[in-house]
Amino acid sequence: MQALDTRQALSAIEGLLSDGQPHQVVTVNAEFVVRARRDEAFRRVLNASDLAIIDGMGVVFALRFLHGVRTTRVGGADIIPDLARLAAEKKWPMFLLGAMPGVAEAAAKRLVELAPGLLISGTYSGSPDPSQEEEILARVRSGRTRVLLVAFGAPAQDIWIARNLSHLGPCVAIGVGGAFDYIAGLVPRAPVWMRRAGLEWLYRLIRQPWRWRRQLALPLFVYLALSELARTRLRQSKAERG
Ligand code: UDP
Repeated sequence: MQALDTRQALSAIEGLLSDGQPHQVVTVNAEFVVRARRDEAFRRVLNASDLAIIDGMGVVFALRFLHGVRTTRVGGADIIPDLARLAAEKKWPMFLLGAMPGVAEAAAKRLVELAPGLLISGTYSGSPDPSQEEEILARVRSGRTRVLLVAFGAPAQDIWIARNLSHLGPCVAIGVGGAFDYIAGLVPRAPVWMRRAGLEWLYRLIRQPWRWRRQLALPLFVYLALSELARTRLRQSKAERG
């Protein structure tokens, strides 16, 4: 297993864009892992993706303690400005799909400020409902999109991408959750010290208390990781003894 930092993730995305085929990138956090255990369709989508970016400290800690893999978190809202700079340099048109009306436009405007020369092939709030698919695909293709950011929230965005991937043309499609809300400045990010300490979930819980139900995934994730650790240790000590 290779865990990628931001620079490596960007170069992996560049690699994906070199073969003229559509590719799916997922940004995985603890909620994804918990959901994927009981949602087979979502699990299949994650397993079939071309690149998984680790967007959660829970997953970073689990990889370190369960598999000895040292890595850092590559947050969706953190990598997008860097990806926008790379896209500006390479002249890859970028499309921002999803979020509440007006938010994708505002995020695109901010990205153009951060990445002068960035080509925006379109922005559209839209919906993951299949009735909108044809219109969305026409918009994405008409701008010769090479980087498609989809912000419908998980798992809808990732399932939407998988379902439509073969019709997207040569591009990389990435599910980015609430990233447009952050980039547009609608929702403030947690302070850096909280993000480094793996406490962004706590900040989100305080700012957006209605998310508590979704965040129940976090203690469950910790429980699952600890059970896995206990099982691994037990296997190791049995092997040593016997
Ligand atoms: N969203 C959307 N259409 C929907 C449901 C959600 O565009 O049908 C957007 C929502 O406005 C937000 C984003 O999806 O910008 C992700 O929301 P959430 O906070 O659930 O995502 P997370 O970052 O937790 O994956």
